Amino acid sequence: MYSDAIVAQALALERTGRSPDSIASELGISRTTVVAWLRVGSSLVAERGASRLGRPTYRGECIDPASLDPSAYAYLLGQYLGDGCISAVKRSFRLRITCCDDYPGVMDECELAIVTVRPEAQVRRLPRTGCTELSDSWHHWPCLLPHGRGGVKHTRLIELTEWQRHLALEAAPGQFVRGLIHSDGWRGTNRVRGANGKTYEYPRYLFSNRSADIRQLFVDGCERISVGTRRMNAWTVSVAKRADVAILDQVVGPKC
Ligand SMILES: [Zn+2]
Repeated sequence: MYSDAIVAQALALERTGRSPDSIASELGISRTTVVAWLRVGSSLVAERGASRLGRPTYRGECIDPASLDPSAYAYLLGQYLGDGCISAVKRSFRLRITCCDDYPGVMDECELAIVTVRPEAQVRRLPRTGCTELSDSWHHWPCLLPHGRGGVKHTRLIELTEWQRHLALEAAPGQFVRGLIHSDGWRGTNRVRGANGKTYEYPRYLFSNRSADIRQLFVDGCERISVGTRRMNAWTVSVAKRADVAILDQVVGPKC
């Protein structure tokens, strides 16, 4: 029997518009199984117990963070800290994350993280110049992403709550780093001229954000997955050592 998480992932992928074939190949399971899950869909979710599928459960009036899917939440938090914001709309709050049109795979992954964190989400895609804004309205977004309001992030203190630190830095630091790099980082090539006049090229990752707090969270996340970082300039942190790049290649890889 497959784990609840796999079933939930299949259902979440379907909600982003993916075909059974592509879901099957992504999750490494047979198409027949996927089709069967999708057919029973919501009843399967009910049968297996909504809370165990990563669906947020409520503690009193609000979401219980312990019910969140750590990987999806950590990734979404990374994306959000890079390129997200929350604003008040009629009796609710809208989460918006801006994704670059050059990376449709990153955009899909971001949407998948939103619907995994909040299975009822109805993510809208709003075209902007060179990018697309993913958005979803829900009155609990500020509870899940508490530092969302009040101006630009680099002029504010960005401090994670205890449960956020647990999810992002203990439970799923790789996904947190992946989300941060998918929003404000990239894998590029560094060229250096050696003493012999020859030019050497090597891959490196860069992460750039104007908020010192967010840069520090990137450094903390990297530390948790044994990746060393170096400050490159005022706003940018680099990962350039071969062994460190190799780890990020496994956890992140080039954006697509
Ligand atoms: Zn709430």
